[in-house]
Amino acid sequence: MPIYEYKCKQCGKISDFLVSVKEIDNFSPRCRYCKSLEMTKLISNIWISKGPDVNQLTSKAESTLMNTFKGKIPEASRAELKEIAKEAAKRGKRRVEEMMDKK
Ligand SMILES: [Zn+2]
Repeated sequence: MPIYEYKCKQCGKISDFLVSVKEIDNFSPRCRYCKSLEMTKLISNIWISKGPDVNQLTSKAESTLMNTFKGKIPEASRAELKEIAKEAAKRGKRRVEEMMDKK
């Protein structure tokens, strides 16, 4: 399942949501913090296939980011994008762990 991240226009915080591909067109995210429905979709969406594995997630997040920019990334931004991907993967992993705990 892909994780989609949304940034709240009201409070600026990022919430992530596991949304199935079938649902994504009709999905309207709500901020976890202030319950606002004004959310901006971020570029990262990360597939969770097997167990949570940060390295695997990071490389997927990276390729997602690279695809998003279609190779038009200036060298200077690459390191930055990698950091973003790493952070997104960490958040994704934490999210999966939280969900597993709840079961
Ligand atoms: Zn908010």
